[in-house]
Amino acid sequence: MIDFDHVKYPFLFEPEGFEQLTNEEMTLVCERAVKRLRETLQKGEPTQLWADTVEYFSFFVASYIVSLINDDWVKKRFALFESRRSTAFLKKEKDMRLTDIAQTHFGWEINTIMGSKKTLFEVDFRSYLKNSVSIREPKWKLINRDLRKGFVRISKDEIVRLLEESIQRRILERTKIGLVEVPDFLKERIETLRNLVKRQRGTEIGVSKTFVFEALPPCIRDFYQSARTGKHLSHTARFTLVTFLVNVGFSVDEIVELFKSFSDFDERKTRYHLGTIIGTDKEKTRYFPPKCDTIKRYGFCVPDGFCKSVRHPMSYYRKALFRLRRIDSSTSMERVLL
Ligand code: SF4
Repeated sequence: MIDFDHVKYPFLFEPEGFEQLTNEEMTLVCERAVKRLRETLQKGEPTQLWADTVEYFSFFVASYIVSLINDDWVKKRFALFESRRSTAFLKKEKDMRLTDIAQTHFGWEINTIMGSKKTLFEVDFRSYLKNSVSIREPKWKLINRDLRKGFVRISKDEIVRLLEESIQRRILERTKIGLVEVPDFLKERIETLRNLVKRQRGTEIGVSKTFVFEALPPCIRDFYQSARTGKHLSHTARFTLVTFLVNVGFSVDEIVELFKSFSDFDERKTRYHLGTIIGTDKEKTRYFPPKCDTIKRYGFCVPDGFCKSVRHPMSYYRKALFRLRRIDSSTSMERVLL
C-alpha cells in the first residue's frame, strides 16, 4: 500500500504495483513524470505534490525517462533535484526515523548519544567518509571531526546532509537502468524533453567572449563544473567563483545563468548578492578572489604542476592564457565548453 513515505522517499522502494494502475492513473503518472522533469531542468525547485499514487509512481517513470535520455548532465541534475526534494522531508523527521533510514536503507552504523542540551549522533567512519568525500567545506574533513573508536560525531543536520549524498548515488544508480528501445507511448514526450535539455544547455554557451575554460586554475575549474551541474557549493566557494568570474569578464546575467543549476537558486537573491560583490558604477568597489593561501586554508586547493609558480588564481589564469596563446597562436581558442 502506498503511504506518505513512498511519496517522500520513493527511491527507498522497488517500483511494484504498476500493473494495478488504471489507464487513467497511468496517464496521470506519465504527465506528472514529465512535469517533474521539466521543473527539474528549468526551475530546479521542488514542486507541489500530486496524489500519493501518482507522485510515487511518477518518480520511477521520471527515472526511466532520464535513463532513456542517457545524458550525464540530466542524470546528475535529476539526482540532485530529487535528493534535495527529500531533504525537505528528512529535516522534519524525528531522530529515530532518521537513523532508521540511514541504517536500514543505506547500511550505516549509527548511534544516538543523548547530550545534556541536544542529541548527537555517531556514525561509523566508513559511511562518514563515503558520503562526505565530495563535500568541500573544511569542517567535513575527517581531521576536523571528533572521531572516537571508529565513529564520527555528527549533528542531526549533518546526518541529513550526508544522507543527501547517499540518496543522490542511489538515484544515479537507478538512472543507469536503461532499455534499448523507447516505448511508443513515451517517444514524443522524450523528444520534447531532449529538446528542452538542448535549449537549457544552449543557454550555457553564451558566456563572456574573453573567457577561456582551459586556462582556469584547478580550484576554480572544480567550482565552475559544480555550478554547471548543480552540485552543492558552500558560500565561500560561491564567493570565490563569482569574484573570479567577474574579474575575467563575466556579466551578472552570465553568472545568474550559470547559477540556475543550483537547486536553491533564487534569481532575486542571486542578483542582489552579485550586486554587492561587483559594486555599483558609483562606488566602483569590486571584490577580488582570495589568494591561494586563503583558498588552501578553506580546503579548496587542488593544485596541478602549474600551481607551483603562482600565488593567486588570477595569476594562474593570466599565465595559463599566455602559455596557451603561445603554444598555438594560429588557432583561435575554443570558448566554453561543454
Ligand atoms: S595553488 Fe592556487 S590556483 Fe592552484 S589550485 Fe591551489 S588555490 Fe587554486
